[in-house]
Amino acid sequence: MAEMVIEPRIRGFLCLTSHPEGCAANVRAQAELAKAGPGTGLKNVLVIGSSTGFGLSSLLTSMFGYGADVLGICFEKPPADNKPASPGYYNLAEAHVMAKEAGRRLETINADAFSHEVKAQAIAALKERYGKIDMVVYSLASPKRKDPNSDTLWSSVLKPVDKLHVSKTVDLRHEVVEEITIPPASEQEVFETERVMGGDDWKMWIEALRDADLLAEGCRSVAYSYIGPQVTYPIYRSGTIGGAKEHLEATAKDLSALMAEHCKGEAWVSVNKALVTQASSAIPVVPLYISILYKVMKAAGNHEETMEQIVRLFRDHIGPGQTPTLDDKGRIRVDDWEMLPEIQAQIEELWPQASTENLEDLCEFSAFRTGFRRLFGFEVPGVDYSKPTEVMRELV
Ligand code: NAD
Repeated sequence: MAEMVIEPRIRGFLCLTSHPEGCAANVRAQAELAKAGPGTGLKNVLVIGSSTGFGLSSLLTSMFGYGADVLGICFEKPPADNKPASPGYYNLAEAHVMAKEAGRRLETINADAFSHEVKAQAIAALKERYGKIDMVVYSLASPKRKDPNSDTLWSSVLKPVDKLHVSKTVDLRHEVVEEITIPPASEQEVFETERVMGGDDWKMWIEALRDADLLAEGCRSVAYSYIGPQVTYPIYRSGTIGGAKEHLEATAKDLSALMAEHCKGEAWVSVNKALVTQASSAIPVVPLYISILYKVMKAAGNHEETMEQIVRLFRDHIGPGQTPTLDDKGRIRVDDWEMLPEIQAQIEELWPQASTENLEDLCEFSAFRTGFRRLFGFEVPGVDYSKPTEVMRELV
């Protein structure tokens, strides 16, 4: 037992602490949105990257919107020595409580999803306590991957390819708009980013599940991608991470063929909207874009968070009985509202005007700031932050 008052300790795009009650409140609010689903239709779902962002929303949607039992894989820091856990750990601690209340099975493997050991552990758990799975959600965002076959450590970088990129960005430590110059990636960096964030590991998961005969007839799999607007193109879509996303999208086609043959299943990439998550906060330029995007989309009445995005993805595209609508490259597009010409036209108009002085009025930077703090359980309405809270929680 270790009760303490927990304060946010923010360092740029990192927050070193997190609040269990705030994380729990976030998860409960998200699960409420999932309840718009039919409550039935999925038996067993595997979510790889289940603790935060789009993966957590996928877990909650599967369980509370479609009645699924879920096996989740994540990489989170548990609480120790009176230090709070990472927020994904507290998110899942609450999801475990809620699963119990709802009579659903939720198990979490908190270890490196890229390893052979974790795949074997997941397969053993599925065989012993779940059975075949109806859906596999692949939602990892990681800065590193250890090659499971050679122990080489690959690192992903967020850099342009071929030429240096100069852009506006927000310095998150000082909350000032400044110019950033990012040198182009080396060939090795391009390669390593693709190894970490491309489709290689997704394919290894699906092949391992196929070999273990754990893919139910009609099983579906989805992984998440991003495209975004011209202003983020050099650093995102045509940068190192974009190259990895192209690899992920090509992998979806291979996996669709594999799953069609093996279990009459299918795999897709869903291109999602830009949102404040731990992964996106670390990308230069993106927090400023998100600040403007949130303002414009809120004014237009079509702003969504990860949970609304995933509820819509399941309802209209990949949920039981749904036939997804695909773009000309075979991708699902729940970034459709972000990419509406009228939304992007406003962003193009506002982007050149953004400065430190108008960071709030023009850009609504506070939406990014609050969104970021809420990821860690801070600034969540209804939570009394002056009260000591128990940091030791369990994923059972
Ligand atoms: P996130 O940082 O919130 O979540 C990442 C998840 O991966 C967490 O559950 C984390 O524990 C898990 N993880 C990381 N390394 C792991 C490892 N080695 N083993 C096991 N688990 C590990 O990220 P997110 O923004 O939700 O991103 C998920 C996916 O969605 C990514 O592919 C991302 O590119 C994509 N996406 C994000 C955005 C956005 O704006 N945030 C938009 C479109 C698509």
